Amino acid sequence: MTTSQNDILFARAQKTTPGGVNSPVRAFRSVGGTPRFITRAEGPYFWDADGKRYIDYIGSWGPAIVGHAHPEVIKAVQDAAALGLSFGAPTEGEVLMAEEITRLVPSIEQVRLVSSGTEATMSALRLARGATGRDKIVKFEGCYHGHADSLLVKAGSGLLTFGNPTSAGVPEDFVKHTLVLDYNNVEQLKDAFDSFGSEIACVIVEPVAGNMNLVKATPAFLQAMRELCTQHGALLIFDEVMCGFRVALGGAQALYGIKPDLTALGKVIGGGMPVAAFGGSAALMQHMAPIGAVYQAGTLSGNPVAVAAGMTTLKLIQQPGFYQRLEASAKRLAEGLSAAAKEAGVTFCADYVGGMFGLYFSETPPTTYAEMMAGDRSKFNTFFHAMLDEGVYFAPAAFEAGFVSAQHDDAIIDATIDAARKVFATLK
Ligand code: PMP
Repeated sequence: MTTSQNDILFARAQKTTPGGVNSPVRAFRSVGGTPRFITRAEGPYFWDADGKRYIDYIGSWGPAIVGHAHPEVIKAVQDAAALGLSFGAPTEGEVLMAEEITRLVPSIEQVRLVSSGTEATMSALRLARGATGRDKIVKFEGCYHGHADSLLVKAGSGLLTFGNPTSAGVPEDFVKHTLVLDYNNVEQLKDAFDSFGSEIACVIVEPVAGNMNLVKATPAFLQAMRELCTQHGALLIFDEVMCGFRVALGGAQALYGIKPDLTALGKVIGGGMPVAAFGGSAALMQHMAPIGAVYQAGTLSGNPVAVAAGMTTLKLIQQPGFYQRLEASAKRLAEGLSAAAKEAGVTFCADYVGGMFGLYFSETPPTTYAEMMAGDRSKFNTFFHAMLDEGVYFAPAAFEAGFVSAQHDDAIIDATIDAARKVFATLK
């Protein structure tokens, strides 16, 4: 009989919730074992149901950029909650948030707030189709844009064939307009526009991919995408749900100097509460209801308590030096882990962009989905569990990026590297 509260809760959870979790990756299916049920979090740490403390490198999959339970964020949430949880009518907080986002993200003149990244990308896609009057969309293998039907697609069997659903319940008819291409493949993208240019409504991309571990887009790839979209009258959608306000203030578009037509945001802009958004030029956003013909709505959109958390987070990340410090932490971690693996003779490397990082059991960081899939997954799984025992919580799957927060100081990073040194010694 187990006495672990995590085991007990997981057994109970599986009786009333499919797989015991409310989002699949939490179930540890990829790494095996029992998910940790979290009871509280503070700064760079969280604690599980057995009272064990972990250094957390997930940060709720990105939102916790200022650290967990930041006193100013908590205070803003408490103050907002005391005034009422939701009104279904506009609030000043939403005006302030829209003003802040449009000021900080170069390509966004108008923005609509929603409650999840899935809604943001789904709505941006509908807008792109509505505004162009075209149906076809281009996405890239390994990028995740939430679970809207036309985005749950993998590449078809032939070159430049339209995609196959990656989930049961998604009709072929829904995905027959989605062309799935290889990330970082400029030639293939050109071919796609040569063949279907006048039918393509948009290209949607994670400009820093964080859902196939961390994979950086090459500047040439992003540049080609921008030029081809402009040339063929298609819209470029940057899905910055993960990398927005994570790789730089202003997101990947500020970092790389490329202006998308539409941007999806989420995670950081809610600071741990459900806020996401999509936006672009005022001319494009005029297509949205209630003034335009593209419909979209939400009972809890722009929720006052969630917006309070998001606005406070957006204020904190604008402190001088915030992103320099965040990136320095990610760099220290990536370089420290790489050095520790090398000492132990383990094939491993790591990379980072701003406050996002990738850990790879391969010689070099992957540049495509296929390269990422070729990494040593069983090594990762062993590493993951050994680190968990050491009190370090990395993403429970080899396909996911990691995140540092402003509270991951040098001492925390060095403690992580010390733990990894021990673990790598057992991995060779
Ligand atoms: N786009 C990207 C790039 C994401 O990383 C995610 C979630 N990880 C989503 C969209 C979907 O966001 P949500 O889970 O809030 O629906």
